[in-house]
Amino acid sequence: MQPIERALLSLEGLSVADALGERFFGLPSEIMPAMAWRKIPEGPWPYTDDTEMALSIVESLLEDGGIDADALAKRFAARYNSRRGYGGGAHILLTQLRAGQRWDQVAPQMFGGTGSFGNGSAMRIPPLGAYFAEDIDAVCEHARRSALPTHTNPEGIAGAVATAVMAALAWRVGDGWKATPAELIREVLRHTPESQVRQNIETTLRFDLQDGSEKVAEWVGSGQRISCQDTVPFCVWCAAHYLHNYEEAFWATVRCLGDRDTTCAIVGGIVILADRNGLPEEWRIRREPLPADIYDTAYAVAPRP
Ligand SMILES: [Mg+2]
Repeated sequence: MQPIERALLSLEGLSVADALGERFFGLPSEIMPAMAWRKIPEGPWPYTDDTEMALSIVESLLEDGGIDADALAKRFAARYNSRRGYGGGAHILLTQLRAGQRWDQVAPQMFGGTGSFGNGSAMRIPPLGAYFAEDIDAVCEHARRSALPTHTNPEGIAGAVATAVMAALAWRVGDGWKATPAELIREVLRHTPESQVRQNIETTLRFDLQDGSEKVAEWVGSGQRISCQDTVPFCVWCAAHYLHNYEEAFWATVRCLGDRDTTCAIVGGIVILADRNGLPEEWRIRREPLPADIYDTAYAVAPRP
């Protein structure tokens, strides 16, 4: 598979899980039984900001062959649709970018000058890890660049890097590389800059499949604070432990609630790279169609994944 085909495959896994995960926000009396019975709702399932920003990443890969922060900032701004469920900080920042301000002036000023460490830098990145899967140094460098237009805080950057590396490793596993979940997590740690994100990923090494994703979420969160620190470690654990089954990965992720469109988007965008035929057609057709602009260009160079 060509790099761009891998990125498109990841986008499929990400966008379907994003859209389906979002359907599981609601009254506990309704969503808990639906999850227990694995009952999927009627379509169409609108995708959210996770997919919308991933589309800009894929567009950069397609047209530039990598990430240039200036170009990516323009793409994020051009594609911004306030109805896609962006966080409050993202609304402010993307509106400023859209008005013509420079990312390197506004992004570092976010949240009182700390820059954002929201999970937005990670939610959009699995296609990038897929694209550069053969070169981990390139994965890390382009992941860092992709975070900058919106997330300049070191935690935001670490979250992007860790997620992208996990996606690259998933592709390798799909190609026959044998690694245990703990080995995969250690490999992610090896490339993740020192940060709370990294420390929390390390914490997840205490848990195995028998403990279950709920236990992991109890310790490191499942996105309740919408930060990289409380989202990425949980997602890395879920992806590493359910790498061979897209559907199981989805259910293990969504049932821990939290920021469930985003946790599912991240895990879905990663796991599909190892379980390449794992996305049920019934799920795919219920997701709102992705915009034709990317796909028309992409399909000129790559067949539909
Ligand atoms: Mg979302």
